[in-house]
Amino acid sequence: MSAPLKLSVAVVPARNPQNPDFFWVQRNPVLPFMGRFHAFPGGKVDETDKNSCVFGSENQAQNKLIFAGVREVFEETGVLLVENNKLLETELQKARLKLLEGELDFENFLLENDLKIDFSRFLEAGKWVTPEFQPMRFEASYFLVWLSEKEEKQCKIITGELVEGNWIKPNLALELWEKGEVLLSPPIIFVAKELAKGSQNISQRLKNTPKILGMPGKRIEFRKGIQLFPQRTLTLPPAEHTNCYLVGTQKLSIIDPASPFEEDQKFLFEYLENLEKSSGMFPGQILLTHHHPDHVGGVNVLKERYKIPVLAHEETAKLLQGEIEVDQTVRDGEILKIDGFCELEAVFTPGHAPGHLCFLEKNTGTFIVGDMISGFGTILISADHGGEMALYLKSLEKMLTYDFDVLLPAHGGSIGDAKGKIKQYLEHRLMRERKVLKAVQKGSKTFTELLEIAYDDTPKNLWEFAKLSLKAHLIKLKNDGKIYGFDELTQIRKTNESIYSKLKF
Ligand SMILES: [Zn+2]
Repeated sequence: MSAPLKLSVAVVPARNPQNPDFFWVQRNPVLPFMGRFHAFPGGKVDETDKNSCVFGSENQAQNKLIFAGVREVFEETGVLLVENNKLLETELQKARLKLLEGELDFENFLLENDLKIDFSRFLEAGKWVTPEFQPMRFEASYFLVWLSEKEEKQCKIITGELVEGNWIKPNLALELWEKGEVLLSPPIIFVAKELAKGSQNISQRLKNTPKILGMPGKRIEFRKGIQLFPQRTLTLPPAEHTNCYLVGTQKLSIIDPASPFEEDQKFLFEYLENLEKSSGMFPGQILLTHHHPDHVGGVNVLKERYKIPVLAHEETAKLLQGEIEVDQTVRDGEILKIDGFCELEAVFTPGHAPGHLCFLEKNTGTFIVGDMISGFGTILISADHGGEMALYLKSLEKMLTYDFDVLLPAHGGSIGDAKGKIKQYLEHRLMRERKVLKAVQKGSKTFTELLEIAYDDTPKNLWEFAKLSLKAHLIKLKNDGKIYGFDELTQIRKTNESIYSKLKF
């Protein structure tokens, strides 16, 4: 099941209708959802948000969204989008800080000060839905508000959840995105493109959100030249999708066309054909991060349809023998020139799988990392499926030596705190290793006893996976010479036959 949709709101603060620009904010890279992205002020509609204090409309659902939007804009920029505002700057500041600390009832505050929200200022600017692959999903209503001169001068962020906020011309925003200097989600790109054309009929144009194959905002291109195309696969929970990436501005490298489902494969074909018609892009080659079935399910049909070669590491080619023919092997450090804009470097990162490759897009510093890191927070290292803990840790360390600021994993959303996340993974594994070693030293004799102690913080429903991980840790500890006499543990047969036979590892 994909994550449930939560109602949210975003407000585009704009100025100068003659030659418009807008105020955008940058989210802190460490945030788990859309970290490092530039966005418009906004957020989730809270239980405390009311439909009161808005005049000019009887649409109560809409009024509640606008109420939430006013609260979010006040929190994030300090601008209070209300009429009849006689409050002093210092009073506003105080209220904002209290609101941020959860100590201010926003409705009471508006009522006490006789502040009203004018519905007519909030121009509808489209609805956007977070795609299914994300761990958190929102139905976001966008509104555009023209700020008065006084209001525009008040816009100022408080560092924390946000790290930056400034006025920017839409064309400059798009230029920064084209250069790979900022991360933008589809709604921001769309709003910037429309505002760049001027303010005439802006609400009407923004409401007409782009639809590809009937689905709103399906083209996801956080960074120019790298499109994300999530596909349904039989992967490990909680993920249900594998991210296929299309890299290039003309000849496309298709990384991990993963879905084994005919319907999803067809959807990818249609998407590719649509791209060819609309932008002249065409499939050039298929790249594989590794051999696991939730990454290669759609390779053969894609290869057959477009007569394009499959490229992978030699080890992956060996493991896929008889199932998928790899036409060209890729070595560590090989530069895959794709077209004028994109340049991928293959980085050999064994550990999760023997032939695992990550692909670094060098112009934008974007690291496509397959199953080395997950957007959901956990990667399985299973000795029964080609995994090796010691190699995995070495590969994580190796990744840190490259130049990049964003990770694009095969499962879940992008990761803005790229190096921080890799370091976190390293620390987490070493913490686990210490726990396993301690449990062994304390005299745990059986696999189950070890599991109960070393994974006491892991929910029981995940223990089937934890068993695989524990085994990988034990093998590493044994090879490191830190434990001995545990042959019967390290030789445990496939501990989770049922799940993996389904996945055909
Ligand atoms: Zn995998």
